[in-house]
Amino acid sequence: PAILPCRATMDTLESNKSVHGLSETVVGVLGGGQLGRMLCEAASEMAIKVVVLDPMKNCPASGIAHDHMVGKFNDSSTVEEFSKRCGVLTVEIEHVDVATLEKLEQQGVDCQPKASTIRIIQDKYLQKVHFSSHSIPLPEFMQIEDFESVKRAADLFGYPLMIKSRRLAYDGRGNAVAKSEEDLSSAVNALGGYSRGLYVEKWAPFVKELSVIVARGRDNSILCYPVVETIHRENICHIVKSPANVPWKTMKLASDTAYRAVSSLEGAGVFAVELFLTVDGQILLNEVAPRPHNSGHHTIEACYTSQYEQHLRAVVGLPLGDPSMKTPAAIMYNILGEDEGEPGFYLAHQLIRKAMQVPGASIHWYDKPEMRKQRKMGHITIVGNSMGVVEAHLKSMLKEENNDTH
Ligand code: ATP
Ligand code: MG
Ligand code: MG
Repeated sequence: PAILPCRATMDTLESNKSVHGLSETVVGVLGGGQLGRMLCEAASEMAIKVVVLDPMKNCPASGIAHDHMVGKFNDSSTVEEFSKRCGVLTVEIEHVDVATLEKLEQQGVDCQPKASTIRIIQDKYLQKVHFSSHSIPLPEFMQIEDFESVKRAADLFGYPLMIKSRRLAYDGRGNAVAKSEEDLSSAVNALGGYSRGLYVEKWAPFVKELSVIVARGRDNSILCYPVVETIHRENICHIVKSPANVPWKTMKLASDTAYRAVSSLEGAGVFAVELFLTVDGQILLNEVAPRPHNSGHHTIEACYTSQYEQHLRAVVGLPLGDPSMKTPAAIMYNILGEDEGEPGFYLAHQLIRKAMQVPGASIHWYDKPEMRKQRKMGHITIVGNSMGVVEAHLKSMLKEENNDTH
């Protein structure tokens, strides 16, 4: 009898030769940037095969993906070809060819989240229309086509006025602020002019920016990660603190809003809901990402189930994992390019050397082939017993005089 379990395992293996990991579904990811790379890292722990589609031969995910198809995720025939290799198609970037995803879905290709979700999210104006029709509170907004309409919006919303590109926005590239009527035309021009597709938002006088990672399973079960605070530098996410230091009531309101926002979308995966907290305690939605997100990097070290593992579990149909924190506090610090080329690499490596001496710090380097100013090159997560402790560790890591030149 002692050998029976062993035989049973052998039989299973022999009868099903494709068994390789916790799921037999090959996950195809459109995009192979740092988010794709961290998805591959999580996949490797569960022996799930991830193949990525990215135009850059040496994109961050290329070295660790099961396979990398070099090609554009916004090119129809390439996406179609790629989909033949995957059991489920997902994204690490929303700027993909959504018309092709819709066509593929009709042919039976499994896209998670659904193409309808990507279509809504990749156009920020459509996104606002969608969420406002679902009664999610957000800053007032208006489409603009010409000077007359932007002037009308400015008269209504006042200054500063936030002008945004509807499409292809990331890291604040696609946002321009007009401080007065004189700025309107130059702000519009900075975004490429009206023909680019623009809209405006009323300025949100926020006291904090918050974010909630929300996971949705294939069975439509929804779980929220603890609310985090995000701190931006020049429109780019720079520091994330988990949990956010806000009253319990605010936590609840932020989670509820994020839950409702994700409930209004279709498909499985993790979503990031970016929020503004106003001085009077209101929560307004900024935008949603239909994928793992910068504000969830810390979940790798700080939560029982990282956002990357959760995304994979969700899209292949495994049970969702516990999103709660296993450490009392965490801070994520983005390593942004400080300079171009070699000098930039030198500065980043100096910081990493310091991080290596910080208790509770974990280093993630994305292996991007080129260093540019403000580019996300890696991140450092510091975990600890209280926010005070991790903040003190971050401060000591960033202190100039600590420079270690060895
Ligand atoms: P991401 O990299 O998060 O995708 P993005 O390029 O899509 O960024 P947004 O999230 O729209 O840009 O805006 C970037 C930042 O600009 C926000 O995090 C916030 O700090 C600020 N911001 C955006 N909209 C407003 C607004 N209506 N009022 C005030 N500040 C705003
Ligand atoms: Mg965005
Ligand atoms: Mg944003």
